[in-house]
Amino acid sequence: MSQVVFIVLLAITLGVFSFSAFKIYQLFKITKPAYPVRDFGKRIKRTIINAFLQERIFRNPIAGFLHAMVFWGFLLILVGSIEMVVDGIAGTDRVLASLGLVYDLIIGGGDVFAYIIALFIIVFIIRRTVLNINRLHGKELQKKNHIDALLALTMIFLLMITLAGMNIFYIAGHPSYEGVFPVSALIAPIFNGLSSDSVHLIHDINWWSHIILIFIFANALPYSKHFHIFMSIPNVFFSRLTPLGKMTNMDSITKEVKLMMNPETAFAAAPEGDTPPERFGILDIEDVTWKNYIDSLACTQCGRCTSVCPANITGKELSPRKMVMNIRQRMKMKGPHIVKEGKDYSDGKALIRDLIKEEEIWACTTCNACAKECPLNIDHPTFILDLRRYLVMEESSAPAQLNAIFANIENNGAPWQYSNQDRLNWTE
Ligand code: SF4
Ligand code: SF4
Repeated sequence: MSQVVFIVLLAITLGVFSFSAFKIYQLFKITKPAYPVRDFGKRIKRTIINAFLQERIFRNPIAGFLHAMVFWGFLLILVGSIEMVVDGIAGTDRVLASLGLVYDLIIGGGDVFAYIIALFIIVFIIRRTVLNINRLHGKELQKKNHIDALLALTMIFLLMITLAGMNIFYIAGHPSYEGVFPVSALIAPIFNGLSSDSVHLIHDINWWSHIILIFIFANALPYSKHFHIFMSIPNVFFSRLTPLGKMTNMDSITKEVKLMMNPETAFAAAPEGDTPPERFGILDIEDVTWKNYIDSLACTQCGRCTSVCPANITGKELSPRKMVMNIRQRMKMKGPHIVKEGKDYSDGKALIRDLIKEEEIWACTTCNACAKECPLNIDHPTFILDLRRYLVMEESSAPAQLNAIFANIENNGAPWQYSNQDRLNWTE
């Protein structure tokens, strides 16, 4: 009977999760291409260093250590969760125990990490609610963002408590148990006085609570900032390999320039069926690339980027965290309508001006501090430059000082208001 209940619950979980994943896949389909994904060796190396070894997280030693321990603990505990799913389907008990020493290491590590993570989650909750950590606040973080973060933390805490409870009462109910449980084995003797039925009942309550929480958590994640649990590793893997600050050329502009410089060669080199882009830069969500969107899904809202942004520190409107959050927010507002009604759908709003002010876009110094600091290799400046490209190339809307510079470059080949013929006049 319990096997049937488990299989039904698992089927519902997989069904709902597949539905959410399909909706996200459809949103990816309306994004633009970014760059070709090559150099798999380099990408794997980067993923190991940045994602699995959590290299950037340790730049902040205390918070970094806490977060890295939670991440590594989760990876170990994940193996135990897979075992629970197999046990649930097959009606077995600790099916992976035949792995011997490997099993002992994984389950023993998972047992220790369950307590460590539960403790660290309490610290995270205190940091969020009691300590006034600057980076965890900001005008872009509304009440619902804080509630989302606290709910996810509470859920992780309950997951760890039920895991510990499951381990303790498994030991208490089995004099010769499988696996190693360094911490739970110390606690289990406290419950020696309980009857065998009670011990088994409490174990089962913890087992079912734990697995149901996993099912609920997995389905809540796509709608939470904690979706980064799924998206952070792919985001690091797909992150740009070119040096930060290196701007991508716009093919159509490159062609225009080549045409000006050498019309014959440029015409000859133009591939057939070459069509000009529908829009230069980014105005709204249909102009973002798949990389911009995956960045927004991976963002943990940790605020490390904003905390190092010179524009933000000096009181400007700009917050790189807000920019990344705006992509996800706008995709949620408009993306499903584009999927349903086609790319001509309009709600009369846009990313620029309705969500991101021009003032924010022009406040960026393109220093790349945000991109260097982001633990998930999110590339904010490239997105900001694309917003600027739209303003300049589609609307000729740049701050007056920049417009003067553009005009000088066009007329004089230099940013100053003198002809480049006169550039040596100063020597006289
Ligand atoms: S963009 Fe990166 S650094 Fe900024 S809040 Fe998101 S995850 Fe943190
Ligand atoms: S690149 Fe722009 S957004 Fe990023 S830290 Fe520098 S000024 Fe801030």
